[in-house]
Formats: sequence, C-alpha cells, structure tokens
Amino acid sequence: MKKVIILTAGFGEGHNAAARNLRDALELIEPATQVEVLDLFESTYGRLNTFVKHAHLGVVRYAPTLWRGIFSLLDHVSVADSGLTGLTRLRTALGDVLRVAQPDCVVSTYPAYAPVIKELFRDHSEKPFRFVTIVTDSISVNAAWHRAPSDAFVVANRPTATVLHHAGVPAERIHALGFPVSPQFAAPGIVPFPLAEDGPIKLLYVINHGKKKCGKVLDRLLENERIHLTITTGRDAELKAELQERFRHHGGRVQVLGWTNQMPALMLSHHVLIGKAGGAVVQEAIAARCPMVINQIIPGQETGNAQLIQQLGLGMVAERNREVPGIIEAAFAKQARLWHEWRANLIKHSHPDAALRIAELVLKQCNDAGDWSKFAPVPKPHLLTAVAPTAPAVVDGIAARRALLCDFHIHSNYSDGSLTVPELVDFYGPRGFDCICITDHLADPRRVIGKLSKLSNLVLAESQLEEYFEVLDRERRRAWRKYGMLVLSGIEFNKDGLTKKSSAHLLGIDMQMPIASALDLPETIAQLHAQGALAVASHPHVFKSEWGKNTLYLWENQEEFAPLLDAWEIANRNDIFAPVGLKRLPFIANSDFHKPKHIYSWKTLLQCDKDPDAIKACIRRNEHVSITLYREGGLLPVVTRMGQPAGPAEKGARPMPAVAMLQAVNG
Ligand code: ZN
Ligand code: ZN
Repeated sequence: MKKVIILTAGFGEGHNAAARNLRDALELIEPATQVEVLDLFESTYGRLNTFVKHAHLGVVRYAPTLWRGIFSLLDHVSVADSGLTGLTRLRTALGDVLRVAQPDCVVSTYPAYAPVIKELFRDHSEKPFRFVTIVTDSISVNAAWHRAPSDAFVVANRPTATVLHHAGVPAERIHALGFPVSPQFAAPGIVPFPLAEDGPIKLLYVINHGKKKCGKVLDRLLENERIHLTITTGRDAELKAELQERFRHHGGRVQVLGWTNQMPALMLSHHVLIGKAGGAVVQEAIAARCPMVINQIIPGQETGNAQLIQQLGLGMVAERNREVPGIIEAAFAKQARLWHEWRANLIKHSHPDAALRIAELVLKQCNDAGDWSKFAPVPKPHLLTAVAPTAPAVVDGIAARRALLCDFHIHSNYSDGSLTVPELVDFYGPRGFDCICITDHLADPRRVIGKLSKLSNLVLAESQLEEYFEVLDRERRRAWRKYGMLVLSGIEFNKDGLTKKSSAHLLGIDMQMPIASALDLPETIAQLHAQGALAVASHPHVFKSEWGKNTLYLWENQEEFAPLLDAWEIANRNDIFAPVGLKRLPFIANSDFHKPKHIYSWKTLLQCDKDPDAIKACIRRNEHVSITLYREGGLLPVVTRMGQPAGPAEKGARPMPAVAMLQAVNG
C-alpha cells in the first residue's frame, strides 16, 4: 500500500484547493492509497491520528502533546514573521510526522515545507521518500518555491515552467501538468458551454469583499438585451437583497446568488466569468474553459494569474471596473470573434484532468521511494509506555459494547461555521466518530427584523436548501465509505425574538427534506416528526460561558414543549444545563461546532446499533444514553468479557478519545 502525505497551509485558497483535489484524484485512481492532507499551521492535527494509528498506536497518544505546543505558538503567527523559534518548531513537527508516518511520497502545495525538508534530510541525500512540489502560483513565482530542491516540480502551465527553468531548476524535474482543479472538471460528458448565434450571453459576475460599487457597471451590461447575468455576492446578504431589489424588473435575465459551493457548475454554464484574479478561481475557470474578464487584482500574489490570462489570450484584464461593459461588448461583436478566440486558446491550454495526471506522477514517484527501515529511529520508550490500557468501559455495572460517539449539532460554512461539509467529514471521521449531524442555521424571516437582518449573512438561505441537502447526501455516502461514519442531515431553526425569553433554537436531526423557515415552533416540530426526524431543544438554558444570546423560550414554556420534543441539550459545548437533568428530561450533548477547537466539548455516547433509526430510537427512549467530555489521545479498549480488554488487533477495536464518563446514564 502506498502512503502519501500532502502538506498544505491555509494561507490563500489555492494551496488548500490543490491539496484536496490531489487527494480526491489519488483516491479515485488508486483507492488503496493511504493519503492524508496535513496543515501544520492549523490546529486540525487529529488527522494525523488516522495515518499513524496503523503505523504505531503509541503515537495516538504521543502526537497531540507534540502538536499542542506547536500550535499554541504557530496558531496566530504567519510563517513570515514566526521567526526562528517558529521554524524550529515546524522542523521538529515535520520531522516527527515523517518519521512516524513513513510516507513513500510527500507532496507540498505550500513553499514553506521544502526548505525544512532540505534541512532535515541533509539536502535529500538521506531522504527515504520522494518529494513533489506543486507550485500554485503562475508566472510570478516566489523564489521560496524553488530555493530548496524537489524531486519533481509540478506547474500549471508552460510560461511558469519557463520561469522555473530560468531560475535554475533542471528541465527534467519540471512537469507542466496543469493546476490540480477538482477531478469533477474531467468527468465524462463535461463540455465547454456552447454559444448559440444570437442566443443569450450568460455572464457570471463574482463580487468580492470591498467591491460593492458595481451597480452602474451591471446596469450598462444589461443594456444589451442578449446578456443574462448571474451575480454572486458571497456572504454579503445586504448587498444581495439590494441587488435583487435593483434588478427586480429584469425578471429572468438577472439571478442574484449569495454564497455558493457550486462555482465549478456555474463556470461550466456561463460564457464569461467576471471577477478577481484569485489563484483557485482563475485555474478553475481555465479548466471549465470559461473566458475571464478580470476586474480586480491583489498585487503580488495575484499579478501572475492576471498575466497568465492576458499572455495566453484566455480573456482580458480591465484596468478599471467601468471598462468591463466595453470589453464584453467587444468580445461578442462581429459574431463574437474575440470570444471564440479566447475559447480556442482555453481549449488549447486547459488541463481539466490535471489532478488525475499529477496523481499518476505521485504514484509513480512512490515506486522509487527509499527505505524507511534504515532511517527511522526507534521511538522514545517513554512515549510507548504512555499507552497504558485505560479502564474498561463499564455502564450500569456490566461489560458494555463500545458506545457510539455522536455529535448532533454542527455548523458548516453554509451558515457561520468555518469548515465546508467535506472538511467536516474529514475532521470528524478520523477522530473515530460514529454519527454526526450537520445542522446549519435557518432563520425565521418573520423574526429577522431591523438590526438582526445582518445576521442573515450567516444563515442558510431558503434558496440554498436544496443544494445543502444534495451536498450532505453526497458526503453521507463518502463518509460511510471512508470512515464508517454516519452523517445525518439537519437544520438548526433559529426562532429569535428580541429578548432571550422569546428566542428559541430548535434542532431537526436526520431530516429527509427541507422545511419552510417561516413556521411556528409546534408546526416545525410536527413537520420534523412527519419525516421521521428528531426535534431537539438546543442550548435551552442559561449559558455560563456567554458566547451567544440566551434562548429560553422552550424552557420557559416546557409544559407545552416537553411533550412535543424528543430531547433537550443537557450540554452545549462547555456548558452543562443542570436543570435539564433535575427535571429528568430526555437529553443529548453536543459541541455546537463552529470551528476546530470546538471539538473539545461535550458529546453524546449511545449504546445502540450504528444505524440512523436505531440512533433516533435510542435518543427518544433515552435509555443507554450518556455524555462525555471529548479529549483527544486516549484509547478506550473494547471489552469482551468483564475486565478483559480486547487487544487492539481484535476486530472492532479502535482508538477512542480519552473519556471522562459522566454518570448520567438514564433508564
Ligand atoms: Zn443555536
Ligand atoms: Zn448552533
């Protein structure tokens, strides 16, 4: 089995996108490959656990201690100004990761790693793995990318290959395979969006932060009757509402979208993309063979992207935004001669299958990997003894089968969470979770009044619900395949009033389809039950660690709602609501996850089959439900007979977080 580590960093979308797309491609081409994406600058270190738990169980306990120190330092410091200490720590971290994981090939999509590897392995002479660098910049390539050696440099295009060669990189090490865009661009049946003579011209206008004054430009574009506009406003809900109002009278010709996860599909269904020269966006547009008109460039990192568009004739760069309508007019004049030129150049230079071809290169590199057995030092003994077996899991005094580790309250970037749905799956999966439910906020528009309308930046739009359920469905299948983890679809219904006593948040868990946002609580609960979903009161009591507004409506009206609700959160993140226990209400505990550090919080353990119906029944009956404070790094052995922990090799045994079991077992 081949082992690949992809190193990335969250600075700039391009690096992360390249890393994730390459991972997807590797898994597509050779599913048996063990591939992990690691960001040593992010505190999402849990992924390391999956990788190494097969290599050495001791590390499961060892790694977190190591990481915590590193991230406390690096968390808030950029590489550039982290100074010597930061780099020393990065070196220690990377060295340990590599020695423990023993990969056949290491791929880097971020320039900071190569110099460290050079230092660690004496300029590669002792390196037991192959090292591939994917340069995510175009043309204006920072020297940091090639100052340290790599066995192979992958670049997005010929002009960038030339730049690297002139900088002294041997030609045979440079591979112009294209930028690793999502393999979905290379799916069979995908063709460049055709332009019909005298048919509609579909423009995709992407508005970025700080570029709000585009109304006049949009008006001018619409003067041409053939033009249809799709505008995306990102998270700026106010701007979205403003533009919707402004272009109402254009009917079907103008579509205003907020934030969307569906950029590739939009690029494949429009004739021109108008927007900023961001790395990932430009490369995706090229893969979609969608010409670009660039109206904004961040000097430095984006200059090369704009040059690329100009130099290869894949579109045009507007000096000022107000030049955009003129450029569009020129592109489609004379039977769209200029536009057809752009399209022809795109077809010539586009590599929609780049991720797959880079994956092939990486797999080939794996075959030439060195020998780790000569290299790897013996792990320090004290690290191994740290894995003393913990106490057996005993519930109700009898030996228990392993409980399911569950989290039913998680936000993605469809509302105010920081991770995408796929990222959430890859975050929870390796941590041994059995069931998670994604529950993005859906606000009741009748209650979003006055100042509160600002909040709508951070909630699901009703028009996005279909997409949200589709994405969850796709990820549900992947999560099961890859991690054996159940992913349930859910929504957190925000029914906010002006006061805490008139505000309520309600979780719908395991929903099959969307429910309208403008419904009263009893009706919402009834509709949830009609589709077999659970209705659970989120944070129903007073928060101690005041991170949000208190929502006490359900608690204040529990005579009405206790008979309707399936359960109440007895704990939300770090808060425990003692009154829920005192009243003996059915309970669960959730993270209310918004970002990685929220993983260290209260969770639910269920003793039932790993199946959505069994899980819901277990919560409804509220028997064999307990809560646990999640911490990383311990092993909870599976108990077969009282007092005899099963060996780690036994089927079904796998690392579990160290748990502080709370005696809150009902029934
Ligand atoms: Zn909430
Ligand atoms: Zn929440």
